Amino acid sequence: MNSQNQNSQEQHSQDLAYPPISPLQTGLMARCPRCGKGPLFAGYLSLAPRCTQCGLDFTFADAADGPAFFVMSIAGFIVVGGALAVEILYKPPLWVHVVLWLPLGLAVPLLLLRPFKGVMVALQYRYRAEEGRPVADGS
Ligand SMILES: [Zn+2]
Repeated sequence: MNSQNQNSQEQHSQDLAYPPISPLQTGLMARCPRCGKGPLFAGYLSLAPRCTQCGLDFTFADAADGPAFFVMSIAGFIVVGGALAVEILYKPPLWVHVVLWLPLGLAVPLLLLRPFKGVMVALQYRYRAEEGRPVADGS
């Protein structure tokens, strides 16, 4: 058995000491997915190395482009949909669009990225999603 499997089993036995918490709840609150108490982030989007309350190692978490994809899709829908609706309904001058949609196009992604990343990390923890690797055949 390699050390990665040992770490994974050790982690799993520690996880059983904590009651399961909703990934949505811990993710949106930016809390540790195991204990729900320690902060998940060290900066705006950078993860803390481990939970300050239960010691869970956050190196398992790799949300990659996942949160950015969802946030980009949602922000694009809101901003482009809003701009189209305002243009069709009111036909305002161009400066109105610039004043409305430029700040909104920056604010919506900035507000959504952190909670989305928190939820994705919590879901990775809950469902033990990790990069695929070959299974040892035991021989
Ligand atoms: Zn914790």
